[in-house]
Amino acid sequence: MDDRSKVIKYLNGGWDGVAVRDYKENDRLHRSVTRRDLLGAAQDEHGLSVITRYFEVAPGGYSTLERHEHAHAVIVLHGQGTAILGEHSYAIAPFDCVYVARDTLHQFQASEDAALGFLCIVDRVRDRPRLPSPDELKRLAALGVSPKPGVAEKP
Ligand code: MN
Repeated sequence: MDDRSKVIKYLNGGWDGVAVRDYKENDRLHRSVTRRDLLGAAQDEHGLSVITRYFEVAPGGYSTLERHEHAHAVIVLHGQGTAILGEHSYAIAPFDCVYVARDTLHQFQASEDAALGFLCIVDRVRDRPRLPSPDELKRLAALGVSPKPGVAEKP
């Protein structure tokens, strides 16, 4: 038996002992996203081969449009927003479950009037995200899919 089982309590709007982190450090292609590593990232949780993170996107915010070889399992907990998956855009709401397939461009956008909170489960060992090419961005625009930042907002 292993005595490292535990309950991480949700108290006063956060998880006890879980830090609120920046979503990513080195890119400006996202806005107003925080990350909490809930399960699987701590030293005493290596019995898990996956990491469960909680992301919160403030109203009007969005994650980076990216792709990678690993898949994502996403479960929406609160708010409303949009998920871009490949060449499609989907409205998402609480308890919706999203499968982001391998090598598929994806972005999560919060609506303008509510924060979007979701769990995202990933493999512990995974590759780094890659950004879309200018041609891919043009193709999405031609299809009427609108990743952010839009052309007018680009830094
Ligand atoms: Mn991703």
